[in-house]
Formats: sequence, structure tokens, C-alpha cells
Amino acid sequence: MTTSLLNAERAEQNLLDLLKIPGLSGRERQVADHLISELKSAGCAAEWIFEDDAHTRIPRDFEMGNLIVKIPGTMEGPRLMFSGHMDTVPLVRGVVPVKAGNRYVSQGETALGADNRTACAAILSMVQVVLENDLPRPPITLLFTVGEEIGLFGAKEVNVEELGSPALGFNIDSGEPDRAIIGAIGAHRWQVEIKGISSHAGVHPEHGVSAALIAARAIADISAKGYFGKIQQDGKNGTSNVGGIQGGEASNQVTDLVKVTGESRSHDPDFLIEITEAIRGCFEAAAASVENHVGKAGRITFNFQADYHAFRMQEDHPTVEATANALAKLGITCKPEVTNGGLDANFLNVKGIPTVTLGAGQHNPHTVDEYADIEEYLTCCKLLVQIVEDAVR
Ligand SMILES: [Zn+2]
Repeated sequence: MTTSLLNAERAEQNLLDLLKIPGLSGRERQVADHLISELKSAGCAAEWIFEDDAHTRIPRDFEMGNLIVKIPGTMEGPRLMFSGHMDTVPLVRGVVPVKAGNRYVSQGETALGADNRTACAAILSMVQVVLENDLPRPPITLLFTVGEEIGLFGAKEVNVEELGSPALGFNIDSGEPDRAIIGAIGAHRWQVEIKGISSHAGVHPEHGVSAALIAARAIADISAKGYFGKIQQDGKNGTSNVGGIQGGEASNQVTDLVKVTGESRSHDPDFLIEITEAIRGCFEAAAASVENHVGKAGRITFNFQADYHAFRMQEDHPTVEATANALAKLGITCKPEVTNGGLDANFLNVKGIPTVTLGAGQHNPHTVDEYADIEEYLTCCKLLVQIVEDAVR
């Protein structure tokens, strides 16, 4: 088995080197430079390596776009893509990684950055094994994204054509290597502005249109129709929430402006839209139902943004099967699961690259208790090599 070619000591050094490099969202340059230098040492030709212009489309201050490497195959076959994000959360600032038993931890009161340097290191370790031993391989794309932690920006803005149309995608951004994330929830954030008509609440309340009454009727109606909180309709599931209500100035004035914010979630993209549209409909109906003495009603403006896109792969999808088969060869049973969070894979799947997300040993991300499990990390390194070996058959 080619996985025996993995040098565990060197793979561990790859991880430690990457954990030491600062690289918050938008400041991935040093991480990328380290990866480029190591990939070249492993045998990547300079012309295989390039950076895209994703940062020019990211509405924040970013040093660079995504780092992309296209390794030519030694044989024909569906192109594989391995991806991981280069950025870490602000809590990682100033990290000093230290080894503690079979883990890497942060020495001080910072997070470790195992989310997601374990991925960068595992991908690098796989490339070292494949290229330095000149293993037979299909064409392989590496995608190191920027800005994952603040909105999946790199994955959102990557241009699929530049990736060479990968057929199977393996994103690494999780803990246990046997848990393969094959689906993720989609989420909308929505905002409603309810415009009523102001009038003196004591002298001429009938001249006014109360935005407060509209908001109250709308929210009650959302609940009555079954679209509030935990939602189950015809076998379809989702959630919604009213997160904020703001408005009103004085008790003697009919409220003419109320702003309501909330969210909707579902694993089912169509049902997610249904939930958000049902909520919009309740606000519209409520606004029309409140009139003043001359028949003037309230008005609303409703906006929403997609935070994450939902996706769900079938368990017999080639990407999921490739993962399960490779894990089986390492003596591990694959546990497919669906996550409630947002991952680069959400956008990669939406862009037509069927992508599972695998673990490389990160635990308790975004906390001072974060650690990297060395055994799990090494298992992921082997898993990636095994996936390449299997693709040749
Ligand atoms: Zn992550």
C-alpha cells in the first residue's frame, strides 16, 4: 500500500511549521508562501502554481486570492480536487503551538489554528508522498482558499474554470477522519422594514397605521402557519427565528417604523426558499390588514441574503464512495453525516464540484481549548494518498 510511504515524522513537522505561521482572514500571504515553497520542494513545477483574483471580488481588505495548484496526471482519469482554507480566526493571534502527548495544543490563551492548518498540512503531506515517489495519478487540483472564517469568501468567489473541472472534491475542515460530511444546511438572513403612518395616539389614533401591530400580526401568523421555530411540513424540515425587533419612539405616537430581523434554515434548498417566502407573505398580508380611517395600509420592504447554500449528496455518489472505499482500506468505517454549519464545500457543491468534507484532527475550533489530534491528522494524510491511489484503478 502506498500509504506506507507516508513519513509520519515529516508529516507532523509539516503541521507544526504551518501552526506557527500567522494568517488571519485576509492575511493569508505567509501561509501561501510557505505552501508554495514546500510544494515546489516536493516537485511541483512553478507553472502548476497560481493565485486567482478572488480577492478583487471580496468586499474586505485581502492580501491575496486563492492559491491553486494543478498537478498534471500521469494517466487519464477524473480530476481530483483537494481543498482546505488557509485562514484562522482572530483568537489564534499570537499562538505558540506545543506538543502535549498525542496532541498539539496552544501554549497560551489563544486558539491553536488546527482549524484549518491540519488541512493545509495534510494536503502538503499527500503531495510529498505522491510526487516524491512518482506515484501514478490522475490530474489533481489543490485549492487553498482565503477568508473561509468570515464568510466562505474564497470558495464563494473562486472561478470553477480555473480549477480544471474536478470530478471529485475532497475538502478538509473537520475533526475525525471517519466522519464524512456529505451535506450541509442552507441559511437565509432576512430583514423587514415595516412602514406604518404616525399620528397622535390619544387624539387621532384612527389616522395612524401601527407598524407595531403589523409586526405582531405577522409574527403570530408565521407561527400559526407553522413556519416559526422548528418547522416540519409534509416531511420537510427547517427552522426559523425572529432575532430582533426595533422600533417606536414615544408612547403617545402611533408607531410608524418597525424593523424586524430573523433567519431561516433548511437542508432542503427548495424548502428553505419556501420558509423565507412564507415569512415574507405573512408580513405582506399583515401590512395590508392594518388600515387607517381613509383606508391607507402599511407597507413593508423585505430583503434576504443566502448565508450558506444547502447541499446533500447521495451516499452512493462517486465522491462519497471513493471516500468510504479509501477509509475501508485503512480499516475505518465511513460515517456520512450532515452538518448545520457553513463550509467551503457548500459553495463548491453549488458550483458543480461534488465535494465531501473530511477531518484531519482539528477539535474545539475557535476556542482556547483547541487541539490537533496527531493520530487523526496522520490518518487523514494516509486517506488522501489512498484516494489518489484508488483513482488510478
Ligand atoms: Zn475551518
